[in-house]
Amino acid sequence: MERVFIFDTTLRDGEQIPGACLNPREKLEIALQLARLNVDAIEAGFPISSPGDFEAVKTIAKKVKGPVIVALARAVKTDIETAWKAIQDAHRPRLHVFLGTSDVHIQKKFGLDREKALERGLDALRFAKSLCPEVEYSTEDASRTDPDYLARVVEQVIKAGASVVNIPDTVGYAVPQQFGKLIADLKNRVPNIDKAVLSVHCHNDLGLATANTLAAVESGARQVECTMNGLGERAGNASLEEIVMALRTRKDFFHLEAGINTQEIMKTSRLVSRLMGIPVQANKAIVGANAFAHSSGIHQDGILKDRATYEIIRPEDLGITEHAMILTARSGRHALRNKVSKMGYDLSDKEFETVYEHFLSVADKKKQVYDEDIEILVQDVIFAHLSDTKLYTLESYKVNTGNGETPEARVRLHREDDIILEAVSEGSGPIDAIFKAVDKIVGVLHKLENFQVHAVTETKEAMGVATVWVSREGCRAMGRGSSTDILKASARAYVEAINRIAYFLEHPSERCSSAATSEGQATSA
Ligand SMILES: [Zn+2]
Repeated sequence: MERVFIFDTTLRDGEQIPGACLNPREKLEIALQLARLNVDAIEAGFPISSPGDFEAVKTIAKKVKGPVIVALARAVKTDIETAWKAIQDAHRPRLHVFLGTSDVHIQKKFGLDREKALERGLDALRFAKSLCPEVEYSTEDASRTDPDYLARVVEQVIKAGASVVNIPDTVGYAVPQQFGKLIADLKNRVPNIDKAVLSVHCHNDLGLATANTLAAVESGARQVECTMNGLGERAGNASLEEIVMALRTRKDFFHLEAGINTQEIMKTSRLVSRLMGIPVQANKAIVGANAFAHSSGIHQDGILKDRATYEIIRPEDLGITEHAMILTARSGRHALRNKVSKMGYDLSDKEFETVYEHFLSVADKKKQVYDEDIEILVQDVIFAHLSDTKLYTLESYKVNTGNGETPEARVRLHREDDIILEAVSEGSGPIDAIFKAVDKIVGVLHKLENFQVHAVTETKEAMGVATVWVSREGCRAMGRGSSTDILKASARAYVEAINRIAYFLEHPSERCSSAATSEGQATSA
């Protein structure tokens, strides 16, 4: 069966979301998981955008085996040189050069005319080709480009050596029938079209990203650019899991296949959500918490008789394990070991002992421990090495609050040099009081930009996961904490975030890339 190549851009387009912030180690962790998912290409970043992103792409190029490693560059010499420096060690590097083709981009963004823009694009492409054997060319804003001009650009860039030509719906303007026809017309009109792989990159501004992508595939596009959980600029990108599962579930219609190891989908989705601090909406297709929940009585009855009545995808094909076995404090080491390895985690003995210790304390509080809880515990341990610093850790806290009283928090933090520091602060609520007490200890004020708490399971004793974004001196960072006590989860998240800010201010080169991108490096593609 013919293949569709899956080009994942979670680490580039996905990371351009406001608030998303990955350090180089976190980007590497996601890239390694994308390799296990078996994507064909990983767009690791936009190296010119910041020293941190350059480092991240370089590390991924060195360490991640399997997929093609791609770096993005504008049609500018310094961008291309920097991108090449970042990926040259990859087993199979690819430079991805982009330039607008719509009149609004050519005239308003660059002040050029069509011919001059084409010339600039071809010059950049030839330069990229002189460095890297594999070059992809993106015609930014293709869906709003004059089709005759677009066809000419595609023909010329293939002639100049582009092995992949990407047709992006940069602003999410396309509709499926029209976008499918655009791809079919290019297939028919461009004489040398068979010398390159035709690719698409669709944004979800009208909720049509997956539909447009599939329409393009039906018309002959053989590479799709997409992201895990549909993350990306504005309303996001076409979602990897939707495209892959649509092709697989409707093989009878598409007669195509993607080489994805679908059993890694759920794990990848959770990892990306966790490290980026962006929860997956409950009704998200394929990976949402409710994607396989059947609540109506008629449906439940049908599912019990035969799952095919209301289920088109088997949860286990995505790597979702059954909920059948809920663990308790009495389950013991062996049962937990079993569960953890069934979830696909390979822990060292030392890591497992730490998870077991945390498991006992959670089991003690909430009696029944679900898979989702265990996943959080496991991730807390295996991703501990990803945090930049442990300048401060939460030692203890105490809050006094009640109806008509001003909440007051007493917080104790442990500092790196083994000193315990304490402060008391009032606040508009208990969490605000805790955050203010932390600021008092650290001696600087932080601005709280966003704060979320969500429950991991639906029980009353659920584990809470808190995510906070704070900023100071133009630097922004995310922190995350989990506990059965949401005040503790929030305090841990806040401490982690301020630790990261302190670290970033001292190590500007490791600052997450999006901080730099938002300062005016216009990327789109
Ligand atoms: Zn994009």
